[in-house]
Amino acid sequence: MDIFQKAQEQFLSVAKKLDLSASIIDELKEPHRVLKFQIPVKVGSTKKIFYGFRSQHNNALGPYKGGIRFSPLVSESEVKSLSMWMTWKCALADLPLGGGKGGVIVDPFKLTREELEALSRGYVREIFPIIGSNKDIPAPDVNTNSQIMAWMSDEYNKLYGKEDWAVFTGKPIELNGLEGRKEATGFGGVVVLEELAKFYGLEPKKTTIAIQGFGNVGYHFALFAAERGFKVVAVSEKDGGIYVEEGINPELVLKCKEEKGEIAGCYCVGSVCDARLGREITNKELFTLDIDILVPAAIENVITEQNADKIKAKYIIEMANGPISEEGERILCQKGKICVPDILSNSGGVIGSYFEWIQAKENRKLKKEEVFEGIKEKITKSFRKMVELSKNKKLSFRDAAYEIAISKVAQAIE
Ligand code: GLU
Repeated sequence: MDIFQKAQEQFLSVAKKLDLSASIIDELKEPHRVLKFQIPVKVGSTKKIFYGFRSQHNNALGPYKGGIRFSPLVSESEVKSLSMWMTWKCALADLPLGGGKGGVIVDPFKLTREELEALSRGYVREIFPIIGSNKDIPAPDVNTNSQIMAWMSDEYNKLYGKEDWAVFTGKPIELNGLEGRKEATGFGGVVVLEELAKFYGLEPKKTTIAIQGFGNVGYHFALFAAERGFKVVAVSEKDGGIYVEEGINPELVLKCKEEKGEIAGCYCVGSVCDARLGREITNKELFTLDIDILVPAAIENVITEQNADKIKAKYIIEMANGPISEEGERILCQKGKICVPDILSNSGGVIGSYFEWIQAKENRKLKKEEVFEGIKEKITKSFRKMVELSKNKKLSFRDAAYEIAISKVAQAIE
């Protein structure tokens, strides 16, 4: 099923239960606006045309908000779905923000630093008329980072003719970025992990976790989970991963990976990395490990009808956006698995972005502890609300979270 069709169906099934008016359904089932454009960039000695998108789903609660991804898998349908999910995510977190998303069809790893900068600046020139600190506030997403936000902010400020640091979030600390923004998504995920453990009576040191994706989100999730005593036994990247029965030391694994250029062989426990401590696994194998909690932290549609019935983990915390396909979800539900939906689990990132936006608007500096405290408070509150509604109405966590978010947006529209 097409990914936007999936997003629409998720919305429509909840909308029906909430008895929303036809005009609200019509408004919310499509984005307000989708911009599609070309970005010409000189690559090597030739000019190449890249395709970019920005989808603005809804701004009833506040300016459109959401990241920009650079990936060969980007499509109009993908950014539309992701922008809709941002609307729900911001509403659930009780932020005065709406939903948006952008992307460029490109493999950024094939570009030089200069070409990547030209692409980032070119992207901003195209979306300049529709973004702004009270209109639409982009951020990093898959394969984009604080350096890219720095180029984008700089390009925006040039076009704007003055400085506004509240247009992009996820900027470097030195350029009005936020302490803790880099860690925010992973940190928020571990707030969810702790709530889940409390709710189901899981003891951290006996709880095993496998994480797919060891980028910014997966790494920080692993780091905070291990710090709190959970056993992260497996992590993987695109080209494979590692299994370490005793539980990894994420910091050392990252260091080892950076030195070696790959994660294979980085079996680091406590203060040592030793080839005898673990074994190599494929990405596919990671999903079928006999563990307690599975954390997809990379891209969408990685749990489908092809592997859902092989998943042994009882709990799934969605740190990527949309990692479970419609069919995958049906199989998991039948098997009684418990999924914490992306719009809650990975909302630490956009909550961090909200603090960064406020910081720039109010011209003050927040401390990392304040940011973490704020994320924890918001996510804990949303988690408990979701659990409460799920118990009262016998809904899955996803449906409960969607009901809370969608009714909030609908009320704002009304
Ligand atoms: N890209 C992140 C997400 O999907 C963060 C968005 C933001 O900070 O605006 O939630």
